[in-house]
Amino acid sequence: MELYEMTAHQLRDLLRKREVSAVEIVKSVLERIGQVEEKIKAYITITDDLALKQAEEVDRKLASGEELPDLAGIPVAIKDNICTKGVLTTCASKILYNFVPPYNATVMEKLNRQMIVMIGKTNMDEFAMGSSTENSGFFITRNPWDLDRVPGGSSGGSAAAIAADEAICALGSDTGGSIRQPAALCGVVGLKPTYGRVSRFGLVAFASSLDQIGPITKDVEDCALMMNAICGYDPMDSTSANVPVPDFTKSLIPDVKGIKIGVPKEYFIEGIDPEVEEAVKAGLKKFEEMGAMVEEISLPHTEYAVADYYIIASAEASANLERYDGVKYGFRAEGAEDLIDMYKKTRSQGFGPEVKRRIMLGTYALSAGYYDAYYLKGLKVRTLIKRDFDQAFEKVDVIVTPTSPTPAFRIGEKIDDPLTMYLSDIFTISVNLAGICAISIPCGFSSDGLPIGMQIIGKPFDEESIIRVAYAFEQNTDYHLRKPNI
Ligand code: GLN
Repeated sequence: MELYEMTAHQLRDLLRKREVSAVEIVKSVLERIGQVEEKIKAYITITDDLALKQAEEVDRKLASGEELPDLAGIPVAIKDNICTKGVLTTCASKILYNFVPPYNATVMEKLNRQMIVMIGKTNMDEFAMGSSTENSGFFITRNPWDLDRVPGGSSGGSAAAIAADEAICALGSDTGGSIRQPAALCGVVGLKPTYGRVSRFGLVAFASSLDQIGPITKDVEDCALMMNAICGYDPMDSTSANVPVPDFTKSLIPDVKGIKIGVPKEYFIEGIDPEVEEAVKAGLKKFEEMGAMVEEISLPHTEYAVADYYIIASAEASANLERYDGVKYGFRAEGAEDLIDMYKKTRSQGFGPEVKRRIMLGTYALSAGYYDAYYLKGLKVRTLIKRDFDQAFEKVDVIVTPTSPTPAFRIGEKIDDPLTMYLSDIFTISVNLAGICAISIPCGFSSDGLPIGMQIIGKPFDEESIIRVAYAFEQNTDYHLRKPNI
């Protein structure tokens, strides 16, 4: 087995036994990038020099006999909407094509304390708006399982990098499904933490009441290690929650006996791919065999979730994206006659079509006379969706659903039909509106050999339960061990 194929916990053990060096690990991953990146295009920026320097530092510490944190020397890929001091951070937008942040996001400070090795910044849908990474302002990323298909989005670069072994762990962000849906489509693990669990300081804002950063990894154990590293209260983010952070590796228990799993009847609807339905139902059977109790539940307001999300997320996006005006940083259009003209030209040339669509939709929803009819109503519906989950969690410990209604779709298949594209997140969006947590893990393959993901949803700040249930499933199956043939 090559080093780049391994998980973070396997590499950690080898490093601690001095059987490999951090430099050997990073060289192996860089070699892999050299072999496949031309086909996959997961990265906007590859930080090879920095990575080698960071790895040398880890090896120096190792040689001096110092005890190292769990993720020391592990090559990690970072979504390009997370600010990295001195390293280009574009959000895959022309409007930020040259933006080099003067500071680190809190999650980067935390990962640096773990002495990770940053391998690069990954491609995404522009400003995280999309479900296929086709909305990147620069280029598209391909699914490692089938190069004619999308990797999902918006964290498609991070998910593809993990599936293609071009990084060992990655960070994504999730506003309506952007960690879980690409994880499902690429056959890897992705976790969206509870709102407030991970600091958003230094995450470029899309929809501030929904955005969360989370890990994308090769297995659940690595997911727990990444969660240990990135969670925790941050005074720099006023929505960060001051709650204790458990050691998530304590939840790696391969046992679900007595755990109550709810299955919402509203999630097995018309339009869901029969192979997806079959794989998730087979997974539920497996849980029963393992001693869990599976029961049907109802989340009656599910049908309003997608519409509700597009009002709320677009409204917040229109406000957050006002700051890109070409004055202090980023792209500035040439040939403007005056200030207003400069704003107009910069924003029309700098933003792509999907971002403009959201800004217009959101500005409309917030405008005088429409605020009550759209945004305020949207917030009320959000409360009803949240209440559905509260009621369900009085009866069950976790909720299991498909992550995405279909496996990876073809490049170009949905790009001209925004409504169809928006439906890709039909099973993930409610979790963000309710502010709760969920993980996606591999649970099968389609007859075309495409990965299928299962979503496990948990109570607020109960990532421990979803990690435990996911780990138990993983330990009893081998879907996470399969690799694409690139
Ligand atoms: N696909 C959804 C959207 O386009 C969710 C994106 C996300 O989670 N960042 O808004």
